[in-house]
Amino acid sequence: MRYSGLRIIKEALTGHKGWTPAWRDVAPQNQYDFIIVGGGGHGLATAHYLAKVYGKARIAVLEKGWIGGGNVGRNTTIIRSNYLLPGNEPFYEFSMKLWEGLEQDLNYNAMVSQRGIMNLFHTDGQRDAYRRRGNAMILHGSDAELLDQEQLRKEAPFLNFDNARFPIKGALVHRRGGTVRHDAVAWGYARSADRHGVDIIQNCEVTGFKIENGKILGVETSRGFIGAGKVGVAVAGSSSKVMSYADMRLPIESHVLQAFVSEGLKPVLPGVITFGAGHFYVSQSDKGGLVFGGDIDGYNTYAQRGNLPVVEDVCEGGMALMPMIGRARLLRMWGGLMDMSMDGSPFIDKTHIDGLYFNGGWCYGGFKATPASGYAFAHLLATDTPHDTATAYRLDRFISGHMIDEKGVGAQPNLH
Ligand SMILES: Cc1cc2nc3c(=O)[nH]c(=O)nc-3n(C[C@H](O)[C@H](O)[C@H](O)COP(=O)(O)OP(=O)(O)OC[C@H]3O[C@@H](n4cnc5c(N)ncnc54)[C@H](O)[C@@H]3O)c2cc1C
Repeated sequence: MRYSGLRIIKEALTGHKGWTPAWRDVAPQNQYDFIIVGGGGHGLATAHYLAKVYGKARIAVLEKGWIGGGNVGRNTTIIRSNYLLPGNEPFYEFSMKLWEGLEQDLNYNAMVSQRGIMNLFHTDGQRDAYRRRGNAMILHGSDAELLDQEQLRKEAPFLNFDNARFPIKGALVHRRGGTVRHDAVAWGYARSADRHGVDIIQNCEVTGFKIENGKILGVETSRGFIGAGKVGVAVAGSSSKVMSYADMRLPIESHVLQAFVSEGLKPVLPGVITFGAGHFYVSQSDKGGLVFGGDIDGYNTYAQRGNLPVVEDVCEGGMALMPMIGRARLLRMWGGLMDMSMDGSPFIDKTHIDGLYFNGGWCYGGFKATPASGYAFAHLLATDTPHDTATAYRLDRFISGHMIDEKGVGAQPNLH
């Protein structure tokens, strides 16, 4: 079924009896050409592009829980292409272009909202670094503007400019950045993949791989063995666990990251705002809630819940930026499992096992990467060559010394 304005009117007039489920509930077959492990944003996007762009068939997505239950439905919904390094910026700009056409591509309202993102700076050195970043963005076809304090005051007068420990001197503004309704992205990709013949199988946990003579033959699951020609793993926070089934040890640690939503308020924020003197980012949802987050909790875990010291730390960041936030009541908070890589950048690569491919290491930033990650992973699975924008995301980069350390902080997951 195609969604359209006419369809909504027709359904409204006929008691909404004609809507069908967004995707089929199917039992797993014995054998597929492609199995994608993980029904998050990246796994579903991979299946969508594999079927739609690369014309492949006999594809299954295996999800241990339910669609939208992982990070894809737990993040703070920010999309942007404001990276500095050549290994990253073309990839994230490709993703931004895919976001810009996503709703038409999927025939699904994902509430893509390019409301802009402002990265605040507080020192002269930080301004120079942002100017350099802005130039790199423009060189790669993205957009960037550097606002001084006076220009910024006009756009965000409520910020605590002067009476603060870290006075705000200006901002790097990326107008095409913004927010997208996160779980709608999962639903939209799932629905489109299903329409292109992909089997989406929920409540199906992969518990092992069948590997013989260096080649993958299929996956062991909670619903039995399923044979596969190629297996692509995109399980985000569970990456180290799942790849250990192939005896692989990854340069990835799993940490919990929390998100917060306040009660609904009248429109106050023009777009996404990030604090430059601490870790705090905030936007306002269409329902009015302030949606914000900060640092990871800082210890290794596979639990999707966080702790109070980080709640305090994040709220302090908010208070430093815009003290009026202290009047808002916090309604909800939750945690998600982050796959923190050692240089803060992801992997989209083959493994040493024939037919086994890996996608992970997305840290805080994998939501905005969802379309490009799915596209590039599908390209790799279909052609056995890396997509042009993802050639740097190799698993062996720590051996060859080609790290992509965007922040220059080394192997410290909490600082990326
Ligand atoms: C609080 C928070 C805020 C964030 N904010 C942002 C943001 O503003 N912008 C941004 O760009 N990024 C953000 N991120 C990061 C982003 O959400 C993730 O990097 C991205 O969603 C990860 O990819 P995914 O969607 O495929 O992951 P997931 O949705 O987690 O998908 C992985 C799936 O694999 C499944 N799985 C695991 N093990 C198995 C198994 N053995 N068998 C089968 N299935 C399995 C899981 O159940 C899960 O559904 C945030 C993350 C969190 C937690």
